[in-house]
Amino acid sequence: MSELFNLAGRTALVTGANTGLGQAIAIALAGAGADIVAAGRSPADDTAAQVQALGRRFLFARADFGSTEPVRRVVDEAIAFNGQLDILVNNAGTIHRADSLDVTEENWDAVMNTNLRSVFFLSQAVARHMAKGHGGKIINVASLLSFQGGIRVPAYAASKSALAGLTRALANEWAVKGINVNALAPGYFDTNNTTALREDARRSEAILARIPAGRWGKPDDLAGAAVFLAGRASDYVHGITLPVDGGWLAR
Ligand code: NAP
Repeated sequence: MSELFNLAGRTALVTGANTGLGQAIAIALAGAGADIVAAGRSPADDTAAQVQALGRRFLFARADFGSTEPVRRVVDEAIAFNGQLDILVNNAGTIHRADSLDVTEENWDAVMNTNLRSVFFLSQAVARHMAKGHGGKIINVASLLSFQGGIRVPAYAASKSALAGLTRALANEWAVKGINVNALAPGYFDTNNTTALREDARRSEAILARIPAGRWGKPDDLAGAAVFLAGRASDYVHGITLPVDGGWLAR
């Protein structure tokens, strides 16, 4: 049974792994045996230390995914690191909170470029490599707003809803190439992404009241689902967006 969740000998590229959910996912994958390439715009020294403490190798590739410019270089660096790339986690994401009447084209593009455009082209570059070898796993970090509209986050909701669609579209094309494309949909987690919500006493209380588990998620709550989608256990799972939300969507 443990072989189903064993990532020894695999290399995972995780975007935005310096903090929050990306950091927790990188550490979970390393705990299951994978070496980690972290790509992002901020140094990931703390993640590096935790991955190396688990006995795994770590590489940082600097990249701002506000444009697709770094995609080719990051994928080349990740493949050169161990000679192959087996897992891609598209975690880096950004949110812009404002009334829809006030959102500018610049606000819109910043969210869509990072949360959707770069995800597609990074996935495409990695899948070209995976398709030539023995396949692989692509995990997109979606959101409850892949299913719901949210409040004052129109570009974010559009990007995450599109990401669930993209997950299905790529799964349909790439399953036959041995590539599993799936997504995680985290509920309300305690990270930088949700600072504004947690600082708003009324929103924070309303959110908590709807979570059957009775608490916000901790980044480590994603670990099991991430290892599942990265390992052999999910070899026949394609195109799903898996909520990890303390039961939010069940209400
Ligand atoms: P976070 O702490 O704000 O982390 C976001 C990560 O994305 C950081 O590493 C950030 O880098 C990186 N990033 C943002 N824009 C980038 C860019 N242009 N180029 C490269 N990296 C960029 O929030 P988080 O909650 O861990 O978010 C991780 C993912 O989970 C996001 O896709 C988010 O939408 C999703 N999510 C979060 C929640 C939640 O409740 N927290 C719920 C559903 C989905 P910097 O540190 O340099 O900014």
